[in-house]
This record gives sequence, structure tokens and C-alpha cells, in this order.
Amino acid sequence: MKIDILTLFPDMCNTVVNESIIGRALRAGKIDIKCTNIRDFAGNKHNKVDDAPYGGGMGMIMSAEPIYNCFMSLYNAEAEQKPHLIYLSPKGETFTQKKAVELSKKEHIVLLCGHYEGIDQRVIDEIVDEEISIGDYVLTGGELPALVVADAVCRMLPGVLSDDICFEEESHFAGTLEYPQFTRPPVWKGRAVPDVLLSGNHAEIDKWRSIKSIEETFERRQDIIDRSSLNKHQIKRLDELIAEKQK
Ligand code: SAM
Repeated sequence: MKIDILTLFPDMCNTVVNESIIGRALRAGKIDIKCTNIRDFAGNKHNKVDDAPYGGGMGMIMSAEPIYNCFMSLYNAEAEQKPHLIYLSPKGETFTQKKAVELSKKEHIVLLCGHYEGIDQRVIDEIVDEEISIGDYVLTGGELPALVVADAVCRMLPGVLSDDICFEEESHFAGTLEYPQFTRPPVWKGRAVPDVLLSGNHAEIDKWRSIKSIEETFERRQDIIDRSSLNKHQIKRLDELIAEKQK
């Protein structure tokens, strides 16, 4: 899969994507991420990419033309399909694991980072396919949101994590939160690891994890529970939890 990040701060994005699991996948050729500087497409001698807002008001607005030219430089419009262009924006649809899975199935996505007070609406209307927000707050630029989206999408791709099971059992993948996790030592500050996890009985461990997963979700996020994705142990425990609550 190919991900292009269009930004005024490519160094900021390159630093992050070259680290850790995503950096390893990049070097192994499992993903292709490129950060392009919108300023390279300013088209004027002062490399100016922003201007004051029509109608007055605070701050500066990123101009349409450099963004458009930067995007158009990424593909051959005559021969290739337009890549899926996402503008990171606090006005967009809130990013979810479901959206990360959906985007991971695309061949080529482009993440457009705004800055200052945002970007000229006309370039959004001309080339943007969707707007994504990473939450109901405002950041100084779209770089951190783009990196959040790129990271969540990349770890859904085959071969990026050691095994698909790594994400299939994680929070939000199948309408539940993950069970609690423990590592050595077996007792820490008087707190012991649950016996079942030391038993070596994998069927019992799976059952314990399923039940803990639905308990965690019931306690913290009842709004995300998707009954159709639960196994029989989880459905039984969920019904018990609902009955206990109604007492
Ligand atoms: N004036 C804009 C508004 O009120 O909607 C906010 C502009 S913000 C200061 C600058 C840029 O940061 C935006 O163009 C967007 O790319 C990015 N940004 C800020 N908050 C974001 C969020 N929650 N999710 C995604 N992108 C965000």
C-alpha cells in the first residue's frame, strides 16, 4: 500500500514514520510512505503558500493552487486512477478502527495536512474525497492527525505486525475492549497474575480472556458492544452482567 502525506513539515512526518514498527515495515518494503512538501509547489519566488482570509479575521489560510499542484504531482491523471485524498480536519468524521480497516484496503491514500487557520474551501471541494478528524479538539496542524491515521492503517496491513491475531484480539477490532495483560514477574508489589494465565491450559486462557474482554467493555464502553461479534462465553457473561445491573 502507498501512503502520501502532503505537508508543510515533512521532517516532522518523516521522523515519526521511520521509527519503530512502521519504520521497519517501510524498510522491508511492506508499505510505501512518502512525505511531500507543499511549499515545493508554491509557484512564486518567496515560496508563499498562504494568504489572509477573504472577509477578514484572524490568521492565514493555505492557498488552493500549491495544494492542488502538489496533489496532481503524485500521479498521472491521464493513465491512473485518482488516489483517495483525505483532508485531516477537526470538521471531519471522527476516526475509528473501522475506518482504519476500510482505508487499509485501498491501494493508495493521500493525507493532506492543513495548517494555520485551515485551507481554501475550493481545493477541498475540487479534490478531497473525505475529511477525517482525530477528535473534538483543535491542533496546530494536520501532521499529528495524519500520522495517527497512517499508523493505525499500516498496522492493519499483512506482514506489518508479527501476526494478524495481534490486532484481531485488540480493543475496538471486534466491538470489545482487550482483556487485561500481564508479564513477568508473577507477583509484583503483592499483586499476583491470575492463576489461569500460568496454567498452560490454552482453552481456559482463551475463555478467561473472552470473559475479561466483555467485562472490561461492559464496565467502560457499553456503547461499542456488538452482540453479533461475541462468542458464546461472552454472550453468557454479558447476559449475567445485564441481569446483575437490573437487580
Ligand atoms: N480553523 C480550523 C477550524 O476551526 O476548524 C482549524 C484549523 S487548525 C488550527 C489547522 C489544521 O490542523 C487543520 O487544517 C487540520 O488539518 C489540522 N487539525 C487540527 N485539529 C484537527 C483534528 N482534531 N483532526 C484532524 N485535523 C486537525
